[in-house]
Amino acid sequence: MGSPLASARSRDGVPATELSRPLAALEQLSAEDLLCWADQEFGERLCLTCSWQKQSSVLVHMVATLGLRLRVVELDTQLFFRETYEVRDRLVERYGLTLIRPPVPTVAEQHRSEGPNLWESDPDRCCHLRKVDPLMRALDPFTAWISGIRREQSPSRAGIGKVQWSASYGLWKLHPLADWDERRVWSYIVGNEIPYNPLHDVGYRSIGCIPCTRPTGPDEEERAGRWAGSDKLECGLHLEKVDRE
Ligand code: SF4
Repeated sequence: MGSPLASARSRDGVPATELSRPLAALEQLSAEDLLCWADQEFGERLCLTCSWQKQSSVLVHMVATLGLRLRVVELDTQLFFRETYEVRDRLVERYGLTLIRPPVPTVAEQHRSEGPNLWESDPDRCCHLRKVDPLMRALDPFTAWISGIRREQSPSRAGIGKVQWSASYGLWKLHPLADWDERRVWSYIVGNEIPYNPLHDVGYRSIGCIPCTRPTGPDEEERAGRWAGSDKLECGLHLEKVDRE
């Protein structure tokens, strides 16, 4: 049975809901003020997605500090590093999170249906099966989605707005950390003594699945260690339809 909230969404190019404030005004808000506005604006139709990199640490702490009770969707491909699961567990315990976990095919099921090591033969399809498709289903009850992506992370993210309509998902995407640089992220984490993924301490500036992640040198782009050696830049979660075609 579909969610009673699902009818509020639209998957064409037209937002299903008007916002109470213009995008230009929202762009001026701090991360904290944007989260508070979003909580008022969308209520229980608002969720936060986490893949347990440093941005997840910032947003989970910020939401808790503001006293907001957001629904948290975990994007677990089942191919994360042990350290990623460990920091997930620490954050869940410390902040009392209840996670929404969309079902993902097991690696064995994927091997049987798609052949072995799909991440090598067709990483776009692998990301679709293990990330994009599960997330699309998990987002169905929501009209707004908070993500930790930042403009500085890569050229493909340089143009994101703090609030933008996603025709692909049929909801509003919110990026409270869009204008934060890496130094500010670390300053916030260290200053607030927030648990973070320890792989960041050994050169993994961006962390995804084990087969598709390597450490990143200080002179490289922050996400250079993701799908290194291929021209793939994004898993597809943050690409709009026009980019996928
Ligand atoms: S990052 Fe790699 S292993 Fe993970 S879903 Fe994408 S292709 Fe598959």
